[in-house]
Amino acid sequence: MGHFCVQCGAPLVTRIIEGRELEACPNDDFVLWRDPKVAAAVVVEADGGIVLGRRAIEPGRGLWCLPGGFVNHDEDPAVAAVRECWEEVGAEVELIELLGVYHVAKTTASSIVGIAYRGRLSPGSKMAAGPEMLEVAVFRPDAWPEIAFPSHRQVLALYAGAPGRSASRPSPAPAPPPPPRTR
Ligand SMILES: [Zn+2]
Repeated sequence: MGHFCVQCGAPLVTRIIEGRELEACPNDDFVLWRDPKVAAAVVVEADGGIVLGRRAIEPGRGLWCLPGGFVNHDEDPAVAAVRECWEEVGAEVELIELLGVYHVAKTTASSIVGIAYRGRLSPGSKMAAGPEMLEVAVFRPDAWPEIAFPSHRQVLALYAGAPGRSASRPSPAPAPPPPPRTR
């Protein structure tokens, strides 16, 4: 399908740029670059397991996923990761480390470059299903439910191989509740 120049409105024409066929403006320097989208996902450790949400919307309605989503154009991926945890599973989360980067190939849309983090609930944080989730629950690593997205299964595999993770070890004694914040 044809597109139009965002600078002058002219119909774009096909040009070979850096060896690839791209749509470009015949009048000026506008090129319709086909860039990937950037997403972030978080493995949130809590109570000896990890936090998953059961999706209330398509795709994957009724199945479980990690908190995560697209990074806004002006947003640090780590900030997006924390924001998505708040929006989707109602949790205040502290990121611990980068787990890795994953790629979701698409045929009819831009592919996705995903950035996966390991995190944990901030002291005293609760969890609550956001508008896109039916429920939120903590699962042990040996008992994942059906995961909605292959990319999130990939992240869980990265997590299973991460040296720093704590969820596969025997659970330590529960930490005492944090002192109330005074400010
Ligand atoms: Zn133009």
